[in-house]
Amino acid sequence: MVRVGLAMLQGARHEHAEALRAASQQLEIDIEIVELRSGLEVDESLDCLILPGGESTAMRKASQSESLLSALFSWMEQHPQRPVLGTCAGAILLANPGEGQASFLRAQISRNAWGRQRDSFEAELDISLEIPSGELVPLETAKRDQFNHQPLPVGTHTVSRNMAKFHGVFIRAPRFDQSNIECEPVASFGDEVVGVLDGQRLALTFHPELTGDYRFHRWLLDKAHSVQ
Ligand code: GLN
Repeated sequence: MVRVGLAMLQGARHEHAEALRAASQQLEIDIEIVELRSGLEVDESLDCLILPGGESTAMRKASQSESLLSALFSWMEQHPQRPVLGTCAGAILLANPGEGQASFLRAQISRNAWGRQRDSFEAELDISLEIPSGELVPLETAKRDQFNHQPLPVGTHTVSRNMAKFHGVFIRAPRFDQSNIECEPVASFGDEVVGVLDGQRLALTFHPELTGDYRFHRWLLDKAHSVQ
């Protein structure tokens, strides 16, 4: 059983839970998703962690009263072998944690560096990361919510069959400072590095949880399973 801590800071959390459930089925690894809202919930029993995307400033503020971020940072320091996936704002938190905490990545990142919300985009990426295989299953078309809103079909229709490609969804995304990457590049958009791996910390500036392609979630669960 792999216990996955999912930081419920703000932003795209539920999609990560869906992606984790799908990845766990593909790998046939039992998981428990632990939704983390307070620092008190961050403990030794977690095998891995997801820091989702959203708005990093809001996340920093929202976490203050419950000391969630500081607890997550201490956990990461104490358990460098336990894998962490940070997506978009989560990648910002890994590179630039604040709170007097040293960076978890040997890379620097700039927020909102592709421009404004309307400059968000999707693109085919090249990826190089050892990921256990599993079937690629496109998401079913998302159901309408209680307000009768149809969720955006972002990326769901273009699940890449090519294992070296990944459909990147960039939403007001940050950018790595390309001249200062001292860890392993694992995803790139043309010449630009958009994902890095430093030890067991994987930081992606895009949103794999919105694509129906669960390879990065499989990476997380597989690593967590093998270090147990
Ligand atoms: N623009 C956000 C920030 O700076 C990140 C966007 C995202 O996570 N999709 O925190």
